[in-house]
Amino acid sequence: MGVRRSFKFLLRPTSKQAAALTQCLEDHRQLYNAALEHRRIAYRKAGVTVRYGDQAGELKHIRADDPEGQSRWSFSSQQATLRRLDKAFAAFFARVKAGRTPGFPRFKGRGWFDTVEWPKDGDGCRWDSQPQHPTATYVRLQGVGHVRVHQHRPVLGTVKTVSVKREGSRWYVVLSCDDVPAEPLPATGAVVGIDMGVASLVTTSDNVHRENPRYLAVAADRLAAAQRDLARKKPGSKRRRKEVARIAALHGKVRRQRLDYAHKAANALVRDYDVIVHEDLRISNMTRSASGTIEAPGRNVAQKSGLNRSILDAGWGVFLQILAHKAESAGRELIAVNPASTSRTCSCCGHCAKENRATQAEFRCTACGHAAHADVNAAINILRAGLALRRAAEAA
Ligand SMILES: [Zn+2]
Repeated sequence: MGVRRSFKFLLRPTSKQAAALTQCLEDHRQLYNAALEHRRIAYRKAGVTVRYGDQAGELKHIRADDPEGQSRWSFSSQQATLRRLDKAFAAFFARVKAGRTPGFPRFKGRGWFDTVEWPKDGDGCRWDSQPQHPTATYVRLQGVGHVRVHQHRPVLGTVKTVSVKREGSRWYVVLSCDDVPAEPLPATGAVVGIDMGVASLVTTSDNVHRENPRYLAVAADRLAAAQRDLARKKPGSKRRRKEVARIAALHGKVRRQRLDYAHKAANALVRDYDVIVHEDLRISNMTRSASGTIEAPGRNVAQKSGLNRSILDAGWGVFLQILAHKAESAGRELIAVNPASTSRTCSCCGHCAKENRATQAEFRCTACGHAAHADVNAAINILRAGLALRRAAEAA
């Protein structure tokens, strides 16, 4: 049975192609913003909800009215951009419904819109568009041409979607493939629970701590400083544009480092364990902000700026995505559990109390006296909850 997987390669566009890519991204950004404006006005002035279908229906006219501009690009990639906006609105309304007060979907400024997606290979884009070429791989993009790809590893399965992404001054192509053959790993007979935190990205129930690398904190400090500098630059000035580019490059660097680190951490877990239990992030994000690690971020990360913390936090979602892909491909079982009270419950006697948590790092049970590293204690509870879920599922 195959799995879904994505492949990301550096693009090597000519300068003409790079200019076309920039224009392509810019036109998609403007389409996104125009569609957002349309929805805002309809919603604020008339209380009307504009839907994806309404906006997609207008694409034909937008293209016809702009022969030198919007009509150059793929109809399907424009639809995908409108769908992306639709998703942002769906998430907005879901949060409103959940009783929260989210910000209205935002306009994308220059530099905040970095991806164009072609939802179907062969429709406005073609992966491996010059298969007869002896040494290089190309991807053809409507309005851009055949762009050379630095393909550093083979693509497996069937290419479904093709995306182009700008990261700083680099361009990448991301392929999402179906039916990628799974490569099961031999069984180890071992199971593990993992607790995700700020100081340590991952702590296992076997008492292994994968500390968040120091360079992430360093990069976060640097980013915070750059952002402060930016605030002092005159709007529209050359210096400001330079600073914006520097910040984008820093963000790109952090992203690559974090990805690399997440890959390593996930590889180790998938190699060593048949069953991996983790917190359900959708639930834990809420509990964290209410009581957990946000107020007391741990020993290595003192009271840092919100930006710093967000850089470390954002690692969890990325890490779990990577872990899920690797686990599926290796035939490992991944279980998500509700993290409520896993950090306050004694893994020895089951006594649950806030007072058990002596400090951020230390757990000491007020009933039985059991003492442990707080994250290890939580990881053991997470493992236990996961195995209970599994037994329940097997019995059903
Ligand atoms: Zn106890």
